[in-house]
Amino acid sequence: MKIAFIGLGNMGGGMAANLAKAGHEVRAFDLSRAALDTARENGCEAFDDAKQAVDGVKAVVSMLPNGQIVKAVYENDVIGHAPKGAVLLDCSTIDVATAREVIGLAEEAGYDMVDAPVSGGIAAANGGTLTFMVGGTGTAFTRAEPILDCMGKAVIHAGDAGNGQAAKICNNMLLAIHMIGTCEAFRMAEKLGLDAQTFYDISSVSSGQNWSMTSYCPVPGVGPQSPSDNDYQGGFASALMLKDLKLAMEAAGTAGASTPLGKHAQEIYEAFAKDNGGLDFSGIIKTL
Ligand code: NAD
Repeated sequence: MKIAFIGLGNMGGGMAANLAKAGHEVRAFDLSRAALDTARENGCEAFDDAKQAVDGVKAVVSMLPNGQIVKAVYENDVIGHAPKGAVLLDCSTIDVATAREVIGLAEEAGYDMVDAPVSGGIAAANGGTLTFMVGGTGTAFTRAEPILDCMGKAVIHAGDAGNGQAAKICNNMLLAIHMIGTCEAFRMAEKLGLDAQTFYDISSVSSGQNWSMTSYCPVPGVGPQSPSDNDYQGGFASALMLKDLKLAMEAAGTAGASTPLGKHAQEIYEAFAKDNGGLDFSGIIKTL
């Protein structure tokens, strides 16, 4: 299938390469020359302009930094330029309201479109093992699914337009909260004279068990290998966690949801990311 791919950064670069590897004809566009060169090396055709990239395609996939850019790219370069009837997939993490607005504009112009943000970082994007949370009509989902399958290990329909983004930010708000809670518990155990490994052995089979503890332990040398074992390098950057928490708090405000711990988590990551935005989010334990 002829597929345009817009946004070939840390995530999009690997995703576009996996579409090409699966046999699709990938027409790539990014503002960065270096990203385009890499895409070419990975089997994509590179274009200097998004409008050219979407010419004659059956599908458009985007992986862009934020909602403002997503809206501008779809309004200016995709809608009305990609052939009518093409299916559009935005995989960026953006605010729910903009996702719904852009999908509305696309549908009015005769396209099927989904929001399909991902769980999993750069390694999962490169390895084709992302999880996609997808919002959109049943028809749009059915058309998007085989394309997403080439880039991920799981593709889940979350409901109507924008629900992919809703799932993503609710999940990441919960992740931030249980990571901070897990860090607090380990630090407090230490202050009380309880060794980290012993606390892990007990809590990981007790009611305090959670993913931040048993799959991504913030204490070095405890639990399976995680960024804490590499001085909090790699993994999921605190700056990206902060971005997702801001989107979550914005959505909570609009929806009238009460999220006192989400708000507090945002404040904690805001302070941490000022000087440590590149560190993995489990590095928050350094502040306690
Ligand atoms: P990135 O900054 O590495 O890549 C974004 C790319 O978009 C860049 O190459 C940039 O040149 C390009 N771009 C910007 N404006 C453009 C435009 N108008 N037209 C064409 N290209 C344009 O970011 P990333 O880490 O790849 O993240 C992309 C999205 O994925 C974000 O929404 C992010 O929140 C989400 N995400 C990232 C991760 C991660 O671990 N990096 C994990 C999950 C989700």
